[in-house]
Amino acid sequence: MSSEQQLPTRQRRPSATAPIVDIQGSVGPAGVTRPKHRRTFTGFGAQEIKGVEASIPEHMREAWLKHQASGFQNKEQFEKEVVRHVETTLARSMFNCDETAAYAATSLAFRDRLIIEWNRTQQRQTFADSKRVYYLSLEFLMGRALDNAMLNIGEKEVAQNGLSELGFRVEDIISQEHDAALGNGGLGRLAACFLDSLASLNYPAWGYGLRYRYGIFKQEIIDGYQVEVPDYWLDFNPWEFPRHDVTVDIQFYGNVSKTTDESGKVTAHWQGGELVRAVAYDVPIPGYATPSTNNLRLWSSQASGGEFDFQKFNNGDYESSVADQQRAETISAVLYPNDNLDRGKELRLKQQYFWVAASLYDIVRRFKKTKRAWREFPDQVAIQLNDTHPTLAIVELQRILIDLEGLDWDDAWNIVQQTFGYTNHTVLPEALEKWSVGLFQHLLPRHLQIIYDINLFFLQMVERNFPKDRDMLSRVSIIEESQPKMVRMAYLAIVGSHKVNGVAELHSDLIRTTIFKDFVTIFGPDKFVNVTNGITPRRWLHQANPKLSALIATKTGGPEHFLKDLTLLNKIELSVNDPAFRKEWAAIKLANKQRLADYIKTTTGVVVSPQALFDVQVKRIHEYKRQQMNIFGVIHRYLVLKSMTPEQRKKVLPRVSIFGGKAAPGYWMAKQIIHLINSVGSVVNNDPEIGDALKVIFLEDYNVSKAEIIIPASDISEHISTAGTEASGTSNMKFVLNGGLIIGTCDGANIEITREIGEENIFLFGNLAEDVDDLRHHHTYGQDHKIDPSLDKVFQAIQSGTFGNADDFNGMVAAVREHGDFYLVSDDFHSYLETQELVDKSYADQELWVTKCITSVARMGFFSSDRCINEYAEEIWNVEPLKPETNSGVPKTEL
Ligand SMILES: *Cc1c(COP(=O)(O)O)cnc(C)c1O
Repeated sequence: MSSEQQLPTRQRRPSATAPIVDIQGSVGPAGVTRPKHRRTFTGFGAQEIKGVEASIPEHMREAWLKHQASGFQNKEQFEKEVVRHVETTLARSMFNCDETAAYAATSLAFRDRLIIEWNRTQQRQTFADSKRVYYLSLEFLMGRALDNAMLNIGEKEVAQNGLSELGFRVEDIISQEHDAALGNGGLGRLAACFLDSLASLNYPAWGYGLRYRYGIFKQEIIDGYQVEVPDYWLDFNPWEFPRHDVTVDIQFYGNVSKTTDESGKVTAHWQGGELVRAVAYDVPIPGYATPSTNNLRLWSSQASGGEFDFQKFNNGDYESSVADQQRAETISAVLYPNDNLDRGKELRLKQQYFWVAASLYDIVRRFKKTKRAWREFPDQVAIQLNDTHPTLAIVELQRILIDLEGLDWDDAWNIVQQTFGYTNHTVLPEALEKWSVGLFQHLLPRHLQIIYDINLFFLQMVERNFPKDRDMLSRVSIIEESQPKMVRMAYLAIVGSHKVNGVAELHSDLIRTTIFKDFVTIFGPDKFVNVTNGITPRRWLHQANPKLSALIATKTGGPEHFLKDLTLLNKIELSVNDPAFRKEWAAIKLANKQRLADYIKTTTGVVVSPQALFDVQVKRIHEYKRQQMNIFGVIHRYLVLKSMTPEQRKKVLPRVSIFGGKAAPGYWMAKQIIHLINSVGSVVNNDPEIGDALKVIFLEDYNVSKAEIIIPASDISEHISTAGTEASGTSNMKFVLNGGLIIGTCDGANIEITREIGEENIFLFGNLAEDVDDLRHHHTYGQDHKIDPSLDKVFQAIQSGTFGNADDFNGMVAAVREHGDFYLVSDDFHSYLETQELVDKSYADQELWVTKCITSVARMGFFSSDRCINEYAEEIWNVEPLKPETNSGVPKTEL
């Protein structure tokens, strides 16, 4: 770190070229007056660009205007940019320009394009003074950026032709990119889909997250076991812009004192403790077929570089000052690899506060520039909490308003409640976040006081309104009176938000009637809404499945239409009986299966036939998602095959069972499931009697870019969670959108998918959510709970050592046999097997199967994340899109 960077922010020299419109949101030196924001903006006409232009100092305007026209519009210009980046930015020669260098240079050429639109978008939003959405998520599972940038900007063909002249295939260049894997699974991917939709729909929106040095670990399978390897993804990342001038010092620990002024007003002061510096890294988020380019701001932690460090340094205590530095950096070092589970680790709470405090500082500073009154804050700012991880933002905003800005409690609290919305993602009790009061007291003493006050006022209100229900207070208290006392983050999030939403209808109903029932009574039903999840069709149809997208385009008037309005997919239903269309459809599925078969061969060495039925379950490994039921079903199939004569076996429809997904490193049972899948695979795949009739594949290191290969190749995918446990699921939507059918339980969004595509096009099975409690109760207290006989045979095979050391899998068997079968594997097993047989029968009738697939895709329009974001905008955020002037963007060649 240079000594320049160690200067405290306030000592930094003001830049002579400080922008008049502060688009990047630099904190800027205190006390430096900037030139006044000249309001030449007079609405959205041709004035718009003029308005921005007028804000540029006169002597810079000509150069600025020239720059606006830069970038590339054609193949020649693109090639020129690539060569320039290889030779100057990368300091390499075209003589040894390999695929890595070509990827880097291509990305930089596109980044240049993005950044121009990004600047303009921010200027446009600042001029329009429009309300912005801030999406706070501890995870953004973005995947690769280059292909998406090419598509959204609309210059993929130019790049393809240019690269081809330079001797490269565009697919090879795209696949050089390392996934940005700053997330665990569905929750993080949802955030990424939302960013894509927000930009594509021209909503003024920012994402805020953490810039982890290590994203989700890389999974290796060694001798059938999961091994975790660090994912150091930042080696070369052309998609981020470090903002060394956008920094905030975040305080931890310390103590609180109070002062009283003449009027008797008490003010709290949080002093002492430790400072850690947050540095902003900005990632441009391009919209599809629009110049709108939003921002994802990720915070990275550094030592604060305050006087303390200098002291140590000057005293020659160099090692200790480096140690301080490293300690500060650990805050944003790793993504916690737990999906749907939060353990009370101090560093995790530190991450949460660090991220939330930096983000709020940034949001508040941007608001203060508008010089509006505080009560207008909710007219300018909507903050969405993706799960309870950012709940501290509620407390932090209240603290800023009362301690730093001097507002009254009630005025401040009104602003807070109107600003926040909270999205719940789970009903699993172990996943509801809690932190011990002791840890809060130590790490964030002032915040704990505020939480106590929030709780006090809340409970007083409850007591006034429900004086007869004596237990109500302890049930809804934000502080759980346990040993030790705990802060219930979900309750805090509910109390501090104006809207709480679940992510699929069943899920929203369940939270209203179970975990948040009392809060519905207290606040009334209108506060609790449903917004069913969606996925972006740009990545999950067009990018992942270019051939299918092209075929659909022939019936819908080009991809630029249905990729912006996914309900247009319904037009393909008119072609469901068109032989040529059906033939094309089937050929595309086969080609996608061949692509996956090739990938399986190169990564696992196993040869699978693309003619077989591909049965896929890829998602985080979790008992509630029931990969164990799937592999037990595979074992059952294997046992049936073994009992057949060779003639009988020849008549069986061949099947490839494909698994993928990571287990949290400390989740022993999930790791045992992975081990069993791999052990079954090595027996089945090497059994000469079985041949092509059954193959079992575990694909290592499931992530977004692997999903893009796997999903389009699926015939049937499994979404078989115990009813009532999967909030929504989003991969179910991805699979159906790509022309695969699903086998699933009546859970999460499966129910709405069924409603949209029709019962006849989905394979549902198993017990319903409303029966789960009774079944569990019966397992625990009923007399002699019998397990399904087929499952018993599967267990016997495992325990006789058919798949290696039986002891390795004792836990999985015991969970069902001895520990009450919490996930109801035995209860659903029979129904599952029957339904799998029905899948085999249906697949044998290829004509009918193709009809089901086409019909399903045609009816999937509802599940676009565009629809979902429009619902949030209307029902929760109250924001409007800000459409760019058509003539103000760089001319776009649409697809
Ligand atoms: C969509 C997606 C998920 C979510 O899958 P579910 O089956 O809905 O849990 C997880 N990981 C990746 C990489 C995804 O793309």
